[in-house]
Amino acid sequence: MNTLAKSIMNLALCFMALVLAFNSAWAAEEAAPSQVLFSNVNIFNGTENKLYQNHHVLVTRNKIERISAQPISADGADVIDGSGKTLMPGLIDGHAHVMINAHFDTVEKNMDYGDLNIRAVRVMQRFLNDGFTSVRDMGGPAFALKRNIESGRVPGPRLYPSGGFISQTSGHGDFRDRADGGFSAHDAGDLSNFERMGIGNVADGVPEVLKAVRLNLRNGATQIKIMAGGGGSSRFDPIDTTQYSKEEVCAAVEAAADWGTYVAAHVFNDRSVNRLLDCGVKTFEHGFFINEETMQRIAKEGGYVVPQMWGLSPDLSKNPLMPADKIPLVNDLGEQFADFGEKLLRNNVKVVFASDYVGVPEDAERARRYEIWWRTQKFGSNFEVLKQMTSTAGEMLELSGPRNPAAGKLGVIKVGALADIILVDGNPLEDITTIGGTDKWFDADPEYKEIETLKVIMKDGEIYKNTL
Ligand SMILES: [Zn+2]
Repeated sequence: MNTLAKSIMNLALCFMALVLAFNSAWAAEEAAPSQVLFSNVNIFNGTENKLYQNHHVLVTRNKIERISAQPISADGADVIDGSGKTLMPGLIDGHAHVMINAHFDTVEKNMDYGDLNIRAVRVMQRFLNDGFTSVRDMGGPAFALKRNIESGRVPGPRLYPSGGFISQTSGHGDFRDRADGGFSAHDAGDLSNFERMGIGNVADGVPEVLKAVRLNLRNGATQIKIMAGGGGSSRFDPIDTTQYSKEEVCAAVEAAADWGTYVAAHVFNDRSVNRLLDCGVKTFEHGFFINEETMQRIAKEGGYVVPQMWGLSPDLSKNPLMPADKIPLVNDLGEQFADFGEKLLRNNVKVVFASDYVGVPEDAERARRYEIWWRTQKFGSNFEVLKQMTSTAGEMLELSGPRNPAAGKLGVIKVGALADIILVDGNPLEDITTIGGTDKWFDADPEYKEIETLKVIMKDGEIYKNTL
């Protein structure tokens, strides 16, 4: 090539580069936002006991931009024809144990931090497969998991970590073995593996409680979880006990409020709930033993009750891991508190869905799907349960204030809300099996099965599943 030819060639290349640069700059400025148009869908909006028949929903980027009874024209949008299907908010689990993903004994004796996280990735993926787009984790080091979901490295619902739950010595989060617990106030014994891995913190007195709260906030907790009473799964605290003094609870609430967020408490009885309310605790996990007067106080003060209703089911005694001597107790609780759900509704308490199962992922999934069905039996309607899994749960997540990772409304289908959406073949208001609810629990196959009726799952405007 002669010199002139080379110069012309270089000039041409320069020109092309200029055109390309200009074009890409222009394209970056003018690129149409990603849009998805759901056409001909019946909408359950999360708040009303009805379907809006044959509507159209336009999602722009990660928000719902338009909802209309008339067809919407949107050039360049991906169109999903949802004829005959129900479009509804993605499901929310208000109390899950993503980070306790094996039986207690295995966690305590045979797991490390890596096991927890590897299993938790699978747990989160299956949550999303089941149509859950937000999950509040109630104990454990779920911070890395949250970060990696948010950056798109692993799939999963929006995650609201509590960090390690905070418990007094002898409390519901003190998982040390008898021999490890210590017998002298000067030697409080070894850490449990639960505590070593950050699933829980044993903290006594205001300074230790404050330190545990602040550590969780530093690590990225969206809310704080404390153990305020006895439980079924811990060995040294009878279920009727009250845990944490008023000073300790109030200190935790104040430290959380300083970060703009709130405290959730594991609790069963009136004495404990009233102490928690005095300090401003916002969500009451379980709560089976409380009376209607306490329920009214919770309702009046804007609290939420987040119960795992399977705890009152006779099917619980079919759990092969249930010690034979506990079966009469379980059956007795189920009978004694059979009208718990009814009473909560009668007293206008806001109730949120909770799967709250601790164990291997397969068992947690079966428990979750069973819980969906069992709730419809205990709360009397599919609508009530769907609300607990959508709008009421979304409202509860907002209690995290500035610590809320979601920049917008969750749990509702309305203009401006975040586009966490599922498309269901059938009407969940009439048939709860369409979102995975089932009356089978331990007798269900532990092998994971897709919920065939969940046709589309969208989180934050992005389609995770589409089988249409
Ligand atoms: Zn729990």
